[in-house]
Amino acid sequence: MGEVIEIKCQACGRAKEYFIGGSGIGGDLTPLFRCLACNFMETKEKEHSSITVTFECPECSASMEEIDEDEVENQIPKIKCFHCGEGLLRYRNIGWWD
Ligand SMILES: [Zn+2]
Ligand SMILES: [Zn+2]
Repeated sequence: MGEVIEIKCQACGRAKEYFIGGSGIGGDLTPLFRCLACNFMETKEKEHSSITVTFECPECSASMEEIDEDEVENQIPKIKCFHCGEGLLRYRNIGWWD
């Protein structure tokens, strides 16, 4: 089962929902990725959890880094907002998906 999360900037108030996680053992996994240059975040589906996916940031073409599912809760508050570059981000679970 996957998790629906909302990431919201505490400074500018911009929020975005992401469907992360996966469908279980051996199934597809949809981790959250973060751009190391501009902090843009995006999810990308992987066919198996052991696969390393690399792709470029759609905003600035820098490389995206996967945020481990278990680390999302810890990492999000340390990332600065993509939009305003200031506020720290708040993460909360808003639901589940299959
Ligand atoms: Zn912001
Ligand atoms: Zn970027």
